[in-house]
Amino acid sequence: MAKVKGPTPQSQDFSQWYLDTIQLAELADYAPVRGTIVVRPYGYALWENIQRVLDGMFKETGHQNAYFPLFIPMSFLQKEAEHVEGFSPELAVVTHAGGEELEEPLAVRPTSETIIGYMWSRWIRSWRDLPQLLNQWNNVVRWEMRTRPFLRTSEFLWQEGHTAHATREEAEEETARMLGVYLKFAREYAALPVIPGRKTEREKFAGAVYTTTIEGMMKDGRALQSATSHFLGQNFARAFEITFQDRDLQEKYVWTTSWGLSWRIIGGIIMTHGDDQGLVLPPKLAPIQVVIVPIYKAESKERVLSAAKTLEAELAAAGLRVLTDDRDQYTPGYKFHDWELRGVPYRVELGPRDVEANAAVIKSRIGEKETVALGELKNLLPERLEALHDALFARALEFRKAHTRVVDDYEAFKEAVAEGFALAYHCGDAACEKAIQEETKATARVIPLEFPEHGVLQDDEALRETGEGVCVRCGRPAAYGRRVVFARAY
Ligand SMILES: [Zn+2]
Repeated sequence: MAKVKGPTPQSQDFSQWYLDTIQLAELADYAPVRGTIVVRPYGYALWENIQRVLDGMFKETGHQNAYFPLFIPMSFLQKEAEHVEGFSPELAVVTHAGGEELEEPLAVRPTSETIIGYMWSRWIRSWRDLPQLLNQWNNVVRWEMRTRPFLRTSEFLWQEGHTAHATREEAEEETARMLGVYLKFAREYAALPVIPGRKTEREKFAGAVYTTTIEGMMKDGRALQSATSHFLGQNFARAFEITFQDRDLQEKYVWTTSWGLSWRIIGGIIMTHGDDQGLVLPPKLAPIQVVIVPIYKAESKERVLSAAKTLEAELAAAGLRVLTDDRDQYTPGYKFHDWELRGVPYRVELGPRDVEANAAVIKSRIGEKETVALGELKNLLPERLEALHDALFARALEFRKAHTRVVDDYEAFKEAVAEGFALAYHCGDAACEKAIQEETKATARVIPLEFPEHGVLQDDEALRETGEGVCVRCGRPAAYGRRVVFARAY
């Protein structure tokens, strides 16, 4: 009898567990060109749900979608010094096309600040043309030496938001607003208890004045940068001569921002919630929220299937994404394991005796079985999915707290980053940060920032602490006025 193959246990080899789970759940597969992946239909359905939710949030905050070309003249990238330095090592460049060598090589976009900056320099004339609030869903290419599906691939899908404003204040507000959008998405849809805040100078985006981020903890204790929002100041405006005539008739440079979230977030979801049985998908993003598994013999097949289809229609009408697994070639036991592997949040088991008793057995992906009345399911399951979301969030938060240590000496710091996050004071010197990375493999992930409307730091007392300590490594006076999260990162 066919058995569902499970992933390598997490405790044995977390990294192999991750790769196995992606393959077995049919989220993605390796493609012929090294570092590229194929996203299979189940994985793409998850990405589409992520897109749908975020796209709605971007539009609610006044942004419009647009599309800029894949090819960018090399000279554009060279205009902003830090930007080109940051991206050069991973650029893919087209030198030949149409059977000829090109006059100017073309970069395959690693990100679109430069080409959008160029277009803005033509579109923006006056304060009346501001703000510009754009987003695009696209693919970008960054040639990676060490690759891992969803986390690090040479080509990846993402969205990149780009905005231009008349004042510094407006652009900084936008930077914070969009980090808030990512924070809300991560917490309220993906059930990820990420930590919001700023990057250090050493870790910021190439060309930004500063970068804000949300950082999550994976089940192996490592950090994952899950989205970023950058305040670009006037760096790109000066490089591309993006000026406008202000109300006071003065010609001024605009202030710009950019912000992005990629399919890395899928890796974050997998590694935050998954277990030895495979994926555990957050209910609000799961392609299938409820699977109905009919259990029957030849003589009861018609009755059971008909009851399953009726239930499926009721649940779909209640707004749930539901599927009846009526594959005849597999046993119910096989189907249970298969849908567990794929992380479906709830399953309904329906047998002939259940149908007779107007009942069904339900089970959450992380819970126990219980018997409930058939007619109640359409009201009960939406509540249960909400409760499962809350349970996943609480479980992940508890894990993060249990693997976070407040440390004041370097030996304790080394122990802390070997298994999770270290909260430590730091001098703010990039050379000291680099030495920490060389000595411990850990980097400064985030300087926590409070977002009162999300109440995030309320989750964790250690994150809220402010003070004037000394650097955990060098003993010099600390910068930032609070502890920094250090961790080994993906
Ligand atoms: Zn230091």
